[in-house]
Amino acid sequence: MILAERLAQDLTALGFVALGAATAWQWYRFRGQAQGRLAISLVSLAVVAALGRAQDFVSVSGVTAVLIGIVTIFAFEASGYYVLLFRDAFLPLTSRARQAARIVLAVTLVVGLADITLLSRAGQLATTAAAFELIAAWVVFVGEPIVRFWLASRNLPSVQKARMRALSFGFAGLIAILVFDVFGGTAVQSPAGIIATQLVALAMVPVIYVSFAPPAILRGVWRMREAAELRAAILDLLMFSPTRQDLADKAAGWAKRLLGAQGAFVVDSEGTIVAVTGVDAAEVAEIIAARKGAPEGGIEAPRPGRGAAIVSALHLTEGIGFLGVTAGPFTPIFGSDEVNQLQGYASSVAAGLERVRVTERLAVIERNKTQFLNLASHELRGPLTVVRGYVSMLEGGLLGDLNERGRKAVPVISAKVLEMNALIEQMLEAARLEDGALMLRPEANDLRDIVNAAVDSARPVLDGQYKIRVKCPDRPIHVRVDAERVKTIVSNLVSNAIKYSPEGGPVEVDVINRGGIARVSVKDHGVGIAKEDLPILFTRFGRVSTPQTDHLPGTGLGLYLGRQLARLHGGEITVDSDPGRGSTFTLHLPVSTVPSAASRRERSSTSVRSSA
Ligand code: ADP
Repeated sequence: MILAERLAQDLTALGFVALGAATAWQWYRFRGQAQGRLAISLVSLAVVAALGRAQDFVSVSGVTAVLIGIVTIFAFEASGYYVLLFRDAFLPLTSRARQAARIVLAVTLVVGLADITLLSRAGQLATTAAAFELIAAWVVFVGEPIVRFWLASRNLPSVQKARMRALSFGFAGLIAILVFDVFGGTAVQSPAGIIATQLVALAMVPVIYVSFAPPAILRGVWRMREAAELRAAILDLLMFSPTRQDLADKAAGWAKRLLGAQGAFVVDSEGTIVAVTGVDAAEVAEIIAARKGAPEGGIEAPRPGRGAAIVSALHLTEGIGFLGVTAGPFTPIFGSDEVNQLQGYASSVAAGLERVRVTERLAVIERNKTQFLNLASHELRGPLTVVRGYVSMLEGGLLGDLNERGRKAVPVISAKVLEMNALIEQMLEAARLEDGALMLRPEANDLRDIVNAAVDSARPVLDGQYKIRVKCPDRPIHVRVDAERVKTIVSNLVSNAIKYSPEGGPVEVDVINRGGIARVSVKDHGVGIAKEDLPILFTRFGRVSTPQTDHLPGTGLGLYLGRQLARLHGGEITVDSDPGRGSTFTLHLPVSTVPSAASRRERSSTSVRSSA
């Protein structure tokens, strides 16, 4: 049993010495202030462990024993105090707390010195009290940070979270062993007790180790938890970020999470920092300056006082930008897997940025179109009013008598002026709609009246060969709508039906009221629309180009406006078409008072109006 005990103790001591050496090496490589403090803590712990074992190998006595005792106590307290300083490096303590910690440390060192030099002669009670104070101070130095680390880890990316928790857990294990040693009574002294505590302490070595130097495979496992979320985020990034800024901000946020980094940044091809999080802009500028000449990116050597960084190139149309992440106290390690991961991510981000660039340009073009619509329609309106005035004077004979050819020309000019006026009104309405300046004036109306008025207004463009049949129910259809706007929608549907029926009518207009929805369908027997062309009908300026219809005048605004106006009324326009045989466009509108069940059952008799 003795052998097993000694073996366990030796192994544990060795473990802590190795842990101290590893942190020291880590600090030598990365030189951060926080790493330095953690290194001092763990090297001190290694010294305590090593000295504890040394006494079993060589017999020491007298002054040497006292010296070893003093060094052990000082190293032990330093190991705790520097955990607190490590916490202070990135979760800063208040100045009062710092002051208090220094006082506790000073008192504890004095007690430790007294314990070794004087109290051993003062009796058991004094030594026990001193030992208790030494341990209590250590538990406070270490206990406070581990609780803080645990709490702070809650909102961190999975890699940082796991590392912080490993550190908390490792030190919590050591505290548990100390408390068990103090209060465990005889159980601690038993060989089984000794072996158990040594093995628990030994188990804490790898736990603490992974908190500051986790192997790549472990980092991969920790990150896996975020993989699904990351995939969704990348999709979101590529598809939905509305602006470059928004995309860059999200890209930086996710790069940070993805690699468990402290900070992240996006720099455009001109070297401007577009997004930055968790690292200051000056540091980003330094990192980018150091990158000159190595545009592909890679691991940046850590600079004194600062952690490592990885930078990856963003291949953009304007040139090469950069996506980078920086290390912090819990991210001191970047390896080739992080570089690969960042590079893969950077190509998605570059694709996303390109998409946003194109969308933003399209938005500018759209804005220009709206501005053009607005300007052109306003500018055309004035001169056209003058022309209309003269045409009506010509028609009324106020400008004198016309000869035969003149008299024939005037109605044609008048009809064309009306057509132009209608086009300008459409352009103005579209511009208003896009500027958000279109105001509806909804009032209680009978839909039948609106439809009849719309058909009448479309009539001037008929040249006698078209038949329009309008079928309405006998009962009124109450709708709360802007009558002028609904009239515009219907008359546009009717004039389209006429315009796109080169062989002649008839055009059938049916008004029905069913299930709280009023429907106005306009059916023609004209050219029809191919299925693949349907999606463009309702777009702004959307016109279908076919040999039969290319010569017909039009703006491609009528159906676009119609659908938008219908939607503003809580309605819709739908289309059903058979190429070569004709189309039916239907306007759906909510009725304002839902008819009672009895009146719905009542079969509506219909009136038929005909027009030649
Ligand atoms: P416009 O008639 O001024 O071109 P619209 O927005 O009213 O603009 O119509 C858009 C396009 O839809 C038309 O150019 C035409 O190609 C098609 N279209 C509209 N109504 C019909 C119809 N009744 N029959 C066939 N095609 C139609």
